[in-house]
Amino acid sequence: MTRRPLAAGNWKMNGTAASLDELHELISSVGSSGCDVMLCLPATLIARAADIAAETSVAIGGQTCHPATSGAHTGDVSAEMLADAGATAVIVGHSERRADHGETDATVRAQATAAWSAGLTAIICVGETEAERDAGRALAVVTEQLMRSIPEGATAANTVIAYEPVWAIGTGRTPSITDIDEMHRGIRAAITSRVDGADAVRLLYGGSMKPSNAAEIMAVEDVDGGLVGGASLKAADFAQIVAAAS
Ligand code: PEP
Repeated sequence: MTRRPLAAGNWKMNGTAASLDELHELISSVGSSGCDVMLCLPATLIARAADIAAETSVAIGGQTCHPATSGAHTGDVSAEMLADAGATAVIVGHSERRADHGETDATVRAQATAAWSAGLTAIICVGETEAERDAGRALAVVTEQLMRSIPEGATAANTVIAYEPVWAIGTGRTPSITDIDEMHRGIRAAITSRVDGADAVRLLYGGSMKPSNAAEIMAVEDVDGGLVGGASLKAADFAQIVAAAS
């Protein structure tokens, strides 16, 4: 099964209008690459970024969404609003959202459903803590998160899964290639019972991916791209990751 790789950047709570220079630079450096390229930006930048990236090969995504379409949820952003601003995808279940905002698998499931209703692809994040890996429970934890977080009706067209070990995010540490391989195979097997056409679903690796390790990680059979935090902030670094994914 050939899956088109996806290199998705996650700027987290970083970036102001001036940072959009990086988007201009990324657009000119990636041209039409052999992989899909996306930047998931702070909500404040999405409309401007979507205008800049219109008719280019770079897509724009959000970083979270509220499960409801509208209503009394001060400070929140709905999937419909993200789509209206020009996003085509949204990250749900990032470990920082789970930790900082108490988002559970049930929340993530509702957010993914909301994303689909708004016509967005849901990038569903899962990953174990270091203690869970040390206890030999990494695959069991991730499988359980997946089963609880992926709604019925997931397909390769509406869903991307990102495996992001919590202990690897922003730490400069990554699992071994063998561990990434084992986890991605395990995820593919686990989603077979849940997702129609599981073979076609893209599985991203995320956690301290950078230009120096991207090629080796992307070469793993069931790794179909990356979700990249820190190294997506500079177009020059992210373009090298895009090249490794292509
Ligand atoms: C992330 O936040 O999704 C991430 C993978 O961060 P970093 O690449 O900085 O570890």
